[in-house]
Amino acid sequence: MRAYLILLGAPGAGKGTVAKRLVDRNGWIQISTGDMLREEIAKQSSLGLEAKSYMDQGNLVPDDLIIKMLKTHLEQGDNGVLLDGFPRTEEQAISLERIFSEMGVSLDSVVNLVVPEELLLARLGGRLVCKECKASFHKLFSPPKEVGVCDHCGGTLYQRSDDNPESIQQRLRVYHTSTKPLIDFYKDKSLLADIDGSRDAEEVYNDITALLEKRGN
Ligand code: ADP
Ligand code: ZN
Repeated sequence: MRAYLILLGAPGAGKGTVAKRLVDRNGWIQISTGDMLREEIAKQSSLGLEAKSYMDQGNLVPDDLIIKMLKTHLEQGDNGVLLDGFPRTEEQAISLERIFSEMGVSLDSVVNLVVPEELLLARLGGRLVCKECKASFHKLFSPPKEVGVCDHCGGTLYQRSDDNPESIQQRLRVYHTSTKPLIDFYKDKSLLADIDGSRDAEEVYNDITALLEKRGN
């Protein structure tokens, strides 16, 4: 069914992994501002070059760049959209309300993935990402069958340049000060549901699916 959803959660909460399953199985599109920015960097576009220094330090990329990039992608989501990594600030959440109202659609639910900090750190420290399909693996928790090779598409796995201890700490700080307040922002609108994100990706997927069915999305 057609739905407009947001996945909230700290870095390492598993947003990207569960988002991929949700969109593949529901025919929605995934809008990951982080993946989009990394694509812009790979293309060496002017936007990518501008974004890279913010990202490598674990800081947020300025809103005007993000919102411009987001708008062009949102238009492609006729069947539903799952936002992962956006909004990250209250200003972005307010911009999103304006964009949705211009599009004549409304936000259905916000799923907040809850994961304890020790697990976030362990996940981010060992994360490997596929250059081609963006699937995530973990050196210890979910290693690929062949070292350095994606199980799904055969693409090369790499460690993100912001998955180093200093940038990870900064991303968590930014999450606490800028993004976490969105939990109350959406709670006040009765759109928020907490999901335990510490379990296996398939279990998290099942919990979210059951929740959305219950809420009628
Ligand atoms: P994570 O959630 O694991 O930190 P993402 O791939 O979502 O990873 O984001 C990586 C980086 O991209 C962020 O640290 C930030 O610099 C930038 N970024 C992604 N989405 C946004 C956004 N909505 N607003 C500002 N910066 C963003
Ligand atoms: Zn792959």
